[in-house]
Amino acid sequence: MLRLMSQFDDLLTAAGLDALWITRPEHVRLVSGFSSPRDGRVLLTRGGATLYTDARYTVQAAEESSIPQYIAQPPRATSEAKLLQHAREQFAGGRVGIEADHLSVTALGALREAWGVEIVPTRGLLEARRAVKTDAEIALLREAQRIADEAYAEVRPTITAGRRERDVALDLEIAMRRRGADAAAFDLTVASGERGAMPHGGATDRVLREGELVTIDMGALLGGYHSDMTRTVAVGEVSDELRRLYDAVLEAEDACVAAVKPGARAADLDVLARSILERHGLAGYFSHSLGHGVGLAIHEAPTLSGSSEDVLRPGMAITIEPGVYVPSVGGVRIEDLVLVTGDGHEVLSRAEKERV
Ligand code: ZN
Ligand code: ZN
Repeated sequence: MLRLMSQFDDLLTAAGLDALWITRPEHVRLVSGFSSPRDGRVLLTRGGATLYTDARYTVQAAEESSIPQYIAQPPRATSEAKLLQHAREQFAGGRVGIEADHLSVTALGALREAWGVEIVPTRGLLEARRAVKTDAEIALLREAQRIADEAYAEVRPTITAGRRERDVALDLEIAMRRRGADAAAFDLTVASGERGAMPHGGATDRVLREGELVTIDMGALLGGYHSDMTRTVAVGEVSDELRRLYDAVLEAEDACVAAVKPGARAADLDVLARSILERHGLAGYFSHSLGHGVGLAIHEAPTLSGSSEDVLRPGMAITIEPGVYVPSVGGVRIEDLVLVTGDGHEVLSRAEKERV
């Protein structure tokens, strides 16, 4: 089990709730361990929790779930009412929280009708808990990144002129799957030439050419946890202009990674990256925030942006990913997955950062 039930009890107490109806898939998985969380919900009560899913998952839920399960039997027309009735019997009454960012208006109406209790919209309750990882979570992140590092090392020699972006992306994904990844952590980006100016450019039929930079953003999904890393590589010799972009981003990335430690303010790291790029006249081309927490979701707390209030704490897993994107010229992003440790940091992404 990745988390202790007692901490969820504290969470209800702190929020003044008698129960929490959990619908966000990451949180269904976090509390129960059930690996098909999109088809599950969890009711968290004082002293317990129940996983709600349906008869397709009878065997799987029994095998995976660390909490008791309620299995809804078809037909759905009557099963949902029975399921909500079962959930209602698990708490005495009072205040029941819902995840306001994840429950549909229709589902909220059904809860109101079935339960007749005060329903309290909540935001960020479990998100805040997820920012600091347990040892078991860190082990999964470390392994997900190791898989991505190895896949990158295998495929890197084949990133040459004449290859299509989508073939490189497919090779990376296959290499990760072969090493045990459950899936790619997201749609991989292989953005070459002027397409490098699109931070989330995906991978297309475009053919790589000599003298271009290629941005590769990749990660593996393992046991629900995501790794996330970006490398930018040269195909042959690149122009002085592209090299200047690369060197500036690498300088900013190195400086920000070096500054990761407990107590560091996330906003200060973002400002540091921007100030280095500013010195190179490139701050105007850095069109996103410096990084993000990563775990059960690819983007989660903390937020590394100029307006973030977050302060780094040991056990946080974050990305540092400055980039510059120059329309019709190209782009560079370099991203590492970094663990905040008790006295500094550990860079989990080990793939080589080449000089171009
Ligand atoms: Zn990334
Ligand atoms: Zn990222």
